[in-house]
Amino acid sequence: MTHPPLAAFASDPAFTRGRRFAEPGAPTRNAFQRDRDRIVHSTAFRRLVYKTQVFLNHEGDLFRTRLTHSLEVAQLGRSIARTLGLHEDLVEAIALAHDLGHTPFGHAGQDALHACMREHGGFEHNLQSLRVVDALEERYPAFDGLNLCFETREGILKHCSRAHAEALEALEPGGVAQRFLLGHAPTLEAQLCNLADEIAYNAHDVDDGVRSGLITLEQVATVPLFGRFMADALLAHPTLKGRRLLFESIRLMLSAQVYDVIAATQAAVADAGVGNLTEARQAGRLVRFSDDMLAQSSALKRFLFQNLYRHPRVTDSMDRASRVVTDLFALYVDQPPPPVVRREGDSMQRAVADYIAGMTDRFALSVHREWSGQSLFE
Ligand code: MG
Repeated sequence: MTHPPLAAFASDPAFTRGRRFAEPGAPTRNAFQRDRDRIVHSTAFRRLVYKTQVFLNHEGDLFRTRLTHSLEVAQLGRSIARTLGLHEDLVEAIALAHDLGHTPFGHAGQDALHACMREHGGFEHNLQSLRVVDALEERYPAFDGLNLCFETREGILKHCSRAHAEALEALEPGGVAQRFLLGHAPTLEAQLCNLADEIAYNAHDVDDGVRSGLITLEQVATVPLFGRFMADALLAHPTLKGRRLLFESIRLMLSAQVYDVIAATQAAVADAGVGNLTEARQAGRLVRFSDDMLAQSSALKRFLFQNLYRHPRVTDSMDRASRVVTDLFALYVDQPPPPVVRREGDSMQRAVADYIAGMTDRFALSVHREWSGQSLFE
């Protein structure tokens, strides 16, 4: 229950806006710890281990998956939260849950499923993450979903179109989508998870990209944010090379980004004169990089986009993965298998989308192989 001293603008589990279904408190855990524990024990969380981050799960055992990515986001987020006086347990809960709604095969899977659902309300992984914790998990006798606190659910819903926000607000007035209609920011813990997500994937995609051989250390050294820390690493250790040079450069780059976020956020909070959480929500985005770091981080993101995410070997895998999702969708809408359960008010297409989104890469590949009699991957 103990937590380092909280800043005045931090979220406090003692003042949570509560759960959708009232429950008595837990004797030894605060409300955010309890959310974290529910997330860790969920089915969707275990499936993250076999879901693609950038590289398809079968391409190697040593690349990031959605699970290890989520753990790295939680580590970075907690580390920054502790220094800023934000609530670490809330940060951990949001970080571990933020990708629960991802389809198999990363963004290719989501784009394919969205295309299949175009006439039926679309598919968006952020909304799906909320749907997983609100409705799809079946663990508790008295309610669907995990019945998480408002603050955790709000942090999970990081983006939302106006149309989706209006639909969610109609179902839950004054709920987690209201901030999109009011133009308010979420808690600082939620803002931190967004930024920790970016810091984590920029760093681990450089690591996985170089180790996969799709990009070279020399190539990524041309990106200022990485290049300057590689130069620092070589200055301190002139004989360093290969993986140790890669890892040391990434370590220095991660530390610099963490310290930058801490300093820039402390300055933003002080400038805004924010004295409590309500003022913080009205002040807009306060957890941020300095302008210089933001520009450098954006340049690294562009580099990864052009050289890794658009690499022919990655896009070729993604094209095949889209085929798998599109084929399974058509097959299941036509002949729904027993696990496809239509919930009250949902279309058959939505039920199929929920089922496919819940699949791991390897399960989707195996059912597709069984159905088509051919493997799209070696
Ligand atoms: Mg993420």
